[in-house]
This record gives sequence, C-alpha cells and structure tokens, in this order.
Amino acid sequence: MQSATEGDGVANDHLLYLLRGPMKEGVGFGEFSGSSGYCRAMFFIFGLRTKVDRSGVVQQVCRHCGNHAAQVITRRATKFTLFFVPLIPVRTRYAQQCTFCGAEYEIAKADARRLPVG
Ligand SMILES: [Zn+2]
Repeated sequence: MQSATEGDGVANDHLLYLLRGPMKEGVGFGEFSGSSGYCRAMFFIFGLRTKVDRSGVVQQVCRHCGNHAAQVITRRATKFTLFFVPLIPVRTRYAQQCTFCGAEYEIAKADARRLPVG
C-alpha cells in the first residue's frame, strides 16, 4: 500500500518535470533555470545584434570599377544578446566599399587583417 503511494508520488514528480521540460526548452535556458528552482517563471529576452564598425580607409584598386580609390573597410560583428547584453560572438564579416563607384563586396577575414586598418 505504502509502496504504491510512493510509486505514484514518484510518477507524479516525473510527470511534472516532463510538463515543465518543454517550457524550459522553449526559452532555451534549461540549464540556467534548472540550477535554481524559483527561476522557472522568469522570461528571457534574447536575440542577435549586429554591430557595424568602420574599421578604416585604405587606398586600393577597386575590384568593381578598377580605379585606385579609397576603400572603406567595415566590420559587421553579430553577437548573441541576452537582455540586450552582447554575450557570444556568432559571426564576424568584413566588407569593402569603394568610395569611387559605391560597390560593396565581402572580403575574407584574412584579407581584412592583412590591410593596414587592423
Ligand atoms: Zn569601385
């Protein structure tokens, strides 16, 4: 009798956990909310933010128009944010824009590093 009650209790706890499970997965912070019990009702604001930095200007021959003109190098760093605080870098892209013809194209990270703008 008593063992049956205990068995039910365990089953209920387990069921409760299973019901809570998808909610935690839904916000994607299962480990975070699981570590302290009272965090379950919390909500999270998260997303991606892309910050555009103007790294610098270099004199180069444009791939598009072939003129030797100033090229603006920009760095776009996308970061995962939690409560609007950038936490984890997701990707970084470099782009080069010609000031003569206005054409913008992506350049490799290695190419951007090789330029004197850093
Ligand atoms: Zn150009």
